[in-house]
Amino acid sequence: MLKRIFFTTLFLACICLICIPAEMAISGVASPLAGQFVVVDPGHGGYDPGAVRGGVLEKEINLQIALKLKKYLEETGARVILTRCGDYNLAVAGLHKREAHRYDLSKRLEMMRQSNACLFVSIHANCMYSRTSGGPEVFYHQQSEDGKMLAECIQEELRSIPGVRKRLCKTSNYYVLHNAGKPAVLVEVGFISNPSERKRLTGDEYQNLLCQRISWGIMKFRVLQQLESR
Ligand SMILES: [Zn+2]
Repeated sequence: MLKRIFFTTLFLACICLICIPAEMAISGVASPLAGQFVVVDPGHGGYDPGAVRGGVLEKEINLQIALKLKKYLEETGARVILTRCGDYNLAVAGLHKREAHRYDLSKRLEMMRQSNACLFVSIHANCMYSRTSGGPEVFYHQQSEDGKMLAECIQEELRSIPGVRKRLCKTSNYYVLHNAGKPAVLVEVGFISNPSERKRLTGDEYQNLLCQRISWGIMKFRVLQQLESR
């Protein structure tokens, strides 16, 4: 029970820090992300559209959400690096398929290493044959305890969105999660194979809501991480 009260208080403190940056500056309370580099990675891009369904391209949703997430995180004092800010990927000419894909991902991780970022968040959208699967889900690498904690913090915030399918975070061997070297997660923001979720995912209102909750989760993770290191 005490633990629950503690984490609730912690969570409310996180929300306050995010919602009132002006007051935060006045009170002198430092945000746990102040001055920290965070890499936000909009998945796919260029000739690689990611999943495509109902005229919606995953790469476009990923970029729209990543750009919004950048703003939310910057409000907390974070310094955000986008692995792409337009419709392209980082593969070079002459490479094909798997080789090109791996090169693209390795370049995204290089941006992470060069900036000495404290964490890596990749944004993707899910797609299944089923039209009924829905809800955001967060992936982490099974060997990363920090990655798991970050994923759980974000998943918990995403589960609190009204009307959203409540999923649990999952493990994945995805290349960037395995090789990030820092806490890393892949957020599948929802299913574009689900017609109603696809419609929501293309709207600014829902995209902003997702970004608000992802940023809250990241803030909570940073607070927990700092408490653990004391
Ligand atoms: Zn994807």
